This record gives sequence, C-alpha cells and structure tokens, in this order.
Amino acid sequence: MTDLSRYTTLGTGGPAREFAEPETVAEVEELLRRNDPVATIGLGSNLLVADDGVDALVLKLAGELAAVEVEGNLVRAGGGAANAVCLHRARAAGLGGFEFACAIPGTIGGGIWMNGGAYGGDFSQVLVRALVATADGTGWLNRKELGLSYRHSNLRHGQVVLQAELRLSQRPPDEIKAAVRELNARRKDAQPTNRRTFGSVFKNPDHQLSAGRMLDACGLKGHRIGGAQISPKHANFIENAGGARTEDALALIAEARRRAREQYGVELLHEVQLLGHITIQ
Ligand SMILES: Cc1cc2nc3c(=O)[nH]c(=O)nc-3n(C[C@H](O)[C@H](O)[C@H](O)COP(=O)(O)OP(=O)(O)OC[C@H]3O[C@@H](n4cnc5c(N)ncnc54)[C@H](O)[C@@H]3O)c2cc1C
Repeated sequence: MTDLSRYTTLGTGGPAREFAEPETVAEVEELLRRNDPVATIGLGSNLLVADDGVDALVLKLAGELAAVEVEGNLVRAGGGAANAVCLHRARAAGLGGFEFACAIPGTIGGGIWMNGGAYGGDFSQVLVRALVATADGTGWLNRKELGLSYRHSNLRHGQVVLQAELRLSQRPPDEIKAAVRELNARRKDAQPTNRRTFGSVFKNPDHQLSAGRMLDACGLKGHRIGGAQISPKHANFIENAGGARTEDALALIAEARRRAREQYGVELLHEVQLLGHITIQ
C-alpha cells in the first residue's frame, strides 16, 4: 500500500487503499468506470490525510496529465502540472497574469479545487475552463460551473480535473521575473518558507483581524501538540516540528478554533482539505 505521507508537504498521513498515477485521459476514465470511491491529489500542499489512511483509490496525475503547452495567450495545462512549471512556461512565452501563483506550491488541479490565490490574484481570474472526469463521463466546465469563490470551488471527490485552459496577457519576461522576485521576498518575510507546512490553516474570517493575527493575539504562536506546532513566525501555519501525525495537527486546529471562539466569538473555517475519515472539531 502507498503511504500518502510521502505525498503531503506536512509529511503526515496513512496509506491509500489503492494508488495510481494515470498518464492519459483514457486511463483516468478507465479507473473511474470501476465506480470505486476516488480522490485525486496534487502536490499535497493543502492536505491533511488521516493517519489510518484513505479507503479509496487515490490518483496522482502524471504524463500528459501533468504537461503544459502554450498557444497564443492560452496556457493548456494538465491537472497534475505544477504551478511553477506553468509559470515558467508562461514567462518564457511572455505571458503574464499567473505571477500570483509563484508561491503556491501546488498543481493546477489543486489550484482550481481551492481557487488558490495570493496577492490579489486567484485562479478564477485566469481560468477559462477545465476538463473534468467523473464516473458518468468527461466534459468541460467553465468558471461559473466550477463555482469558484474565495478558496472554494464546487468540485467534490470523484471529480478529476484533467486539464485546464488559462487565458493570460502579454507581459515582457523581465517584468514577470521582477514581479515574482518581489512577491517571493514579501512571502519570505512574513511566512515560514523553509518548514513542512500545508499553507494557511484557516480562511480569513469576516473580521478586522486576519486568521493569523487573531491566533497570534490568542497567544498561539509556537504552541505545540505532539510533533506539530503553530508556526512561531505566522500563527495561521502549522509546522511539522518533528514526527508530527495528522492527529497532532487536528488537535492544534481544534485548540485554535476554541480560542478564537472564546476570545473573539469567531468560528474559524479551515482552508486545509481533508482526506480520509477525519473531521475538524
Ligand atoms: C508554503 C505554502 C504556501 C502556500 N501558500 C498559498 C497561497 O498563498 N495561496 C493559496 O491559495 N494556497 C497556498 N498554499 C496551499 C496550497 O499550495 C494550495 O491550496 C494549492 O492550490 C494546493 O494544490 P495541490 O496540488 O498541492 O493540491 P492538494 O493539496 O494535493 O489537494 C488539495 C485539494 O485539491 C484536490 N485536488 C488536487 N488535484 C486535483 C485534481 N487534479 N482533480 C481534482 N481534485 C484535485 C484534492 O483532492 C484536495 O481536496 C500554500 C501551501 C504551502 C505549503
């Protein structure tokens, strides 16, 4: 059985009942026809996997489903293509608009699922449509059908994002390079970039304080349970401080939610996605 901790940036999680790395649309369609529960992972950069594993067929897209090509102002990327590769190809072609993704260490499929974004940009601003496979068939969905909003889409497990088309606009490569350098420097100043994390734990609440500032004010920076700790640098990040398990991260999440509720009357909603039989308290 494949241990999914190898495939998450936090480095936690148990085995998948079955694991496959399909490389073509036809291969995914064949796997879906079995009608088993299916979940797709990207680079596991926003993912908490249950310690006792996942009772499903877990897919990780490879081959042509992770390839990127550019045609005019359109970038066609496989659902398993890394954002970094897309950005690199776009820059080489003199296409801007995807710079926001420079510090989002995931794939195109994961980015659409989350409507990932940063620094004022997000997938909904560049996505034209996505090719999505289910057990019932494969078809293109546009932005509206995907229901993209703040760190949200309507996608559910069993739907596999096979490919996406992003419409970008012309921008000189040097300008793109400079913009990316600046965004990365801002990121390095504010967030733990050299630790095992899964990005933001919580969505920002409808409150004058961001989730990070609220949890900092609750005194949670550096708070540790088992092998997981709230980042001393940014309180909306959980780090694997050594030997962390998913249950440690879940206990920290529950504690953070409790404190935000008690001190601010705010119900924090998690941004991190869950795989397997786990729930957020
Ligand atoms: C250091 C760090 C910084 C981060 N900064 C940001 C940030 O600034 N902004 C931001 O939005 N996020 C950020 N993240 C979180 C994360 O990188 C994004 O949410 C990213 O889009 C997740 O992509 P992924 O490929 O890793 O998806 P995964 O984490 O593997 O999966 C996330 C969800 O998408 C689903 N999924 C993945 N691929 C597919 C597919 N092909 N078809 C169907 N479903 C799929 C999974 O089932 C899961 O539910 C950060 C993470 C880290 C570790």
